[in-house]
Amino acid sequence: MKLSNRITGLTGGGSDGWDVFTKAREMIAAGEDVTELTIGEHDIRTAAPILQQMHQSALGGHTGYAAVPGTRALRQTVAARVAARTGVPTGPENVLITPGGQAALFAAHIAACDPGDTALYIDPYYATYPGTLRGAGARPKAIAARAENAFQPRAADIAAQARGAASLLINTPNNPTGVVYGQQTLSEIAALCCAEDMWLISDEVYDTQVWDGTHLSPRSLPDMAERTLVVGSMSKSHAMTGSRCGWIIGPAAAIRHLTNLATHTTYGVPGFIQDASTFALQQGAAFEAEIAAPFLRRRALAQKVIAAQNIVGLVPAQGAMYLMLDIRATGMTGEAFAFDLLATHHIAVMPGESFGQAAAGHLRIAMTVADDAFEAALKTTLEHAARRAGEHAGHQPRGHALP
Ligand code: PMP
Repeated sequence: MKLSNRITGLTGGGSDGWDVFTKAREMIAAGEDVTELTIGEHDIRTAAPILQQMHQSALGGHTGYAAVPGTRALRQTVAARVAARTGVPTGPENVLITPGGQAALFAAHIAACDPGDTALYIDPYYATYPGTLRGAGARPKAIAARAENAFQPRAADIAAQARGAASLLINTPNNPTGVVYGQQTLSEIAALCCAEDMWLISDEVYDTQVWDGTHLSPRSLPDMAERTLVVGSMSKSHAMTGSRCGWIIGPAAAIRHLTNLATHTTYGVPGFIQDASTFALQQGAAFEAEIAAPFLRRRALAQKVIAAQNIVGLVPAQGAMYLMLDIRATGMTGEAFAFDLLATHHIAVMPGESFGQAAAGHLRIAMTVADDAFEAALKTTLEHAARRAGEHAGHQPRGHALP
């Protein structure tokens, strides 16, 4: 039977960017020892008190259909947290609870784009973005944020593609670059969205993982609350990736329509997951800082190790659980280097190219293994890059032994 073009064309054909990851998993399945710095998932599990709450809620009977837009308690808790963090008046009517940020990204584009509409997004991008936009019926168009500009998107580059576009998707703190968009970048993007009458879809799933500066939600900028759909999630902030609980924040009218969409697609999120999420959010900022702490600590370790050599560059590591390394001095693509590193040292990292052409010649390192193993793998990666760079330059490397 013929399948629809919509589903067969979802990934756009070609490599899905996960080849190194797949190879690493095959090696692990075959019993080999591989240090995996690939996937964006904590090396801790969901905290026991959150699981106890989930258990109690389920035992207490919250196992039937839950209210489709989300429970009143969770919508209220999310709204109060967003209002406190951004200063934008936000009530439960502005919140739809979704099965994770991924479902929220899809729903937000259904809300913003008609079939065939252009949906802009920034390259480098989180790997699912183009497929999500295509799946929602939109025509994805990438706009490069350049390494030369420290991966901050430039409003002029977006403006050049914005005529007639229905939406722009941004992500700060950013996966894969670890960059946090500055006030000026966001103000210019906001002004452009107003001028071009575009929706801004703001993926803020890493908003509790900011190492330098502060997180600025563009929904709080002038005239933006009415045209911004914020995507949030429990996954990264509370180490609840498997619970599949996220949300969309937006104007009440948009949330009403998105609730209709949820009725016809997901039919909501399990009540016991929502109760556990409400409890988790009530633990406050100190708990969120505890979840983020290992990444902050490993970033400091990495900055020290990287500063001791001059072959590999570190993109400003301002937030999220990733580092982006510039390995262009090796003369290799990110993908060739990542396969080489995996084969030689059994260390798995993501090639920059998996996240778009703007990240070519880079590697994304997830800071998601224990500190010792992380530091050792990073040192080996840098030594490997120095060796390859030396070969590339036609001579052996001199004097960049690592501490
Ligand atoms: N956005 C970004 C930028 C991500 O990195 C991820 C997950 N890695 C998601 C959205 C989706 O996360 P979830 O569905 O677990 O909330």
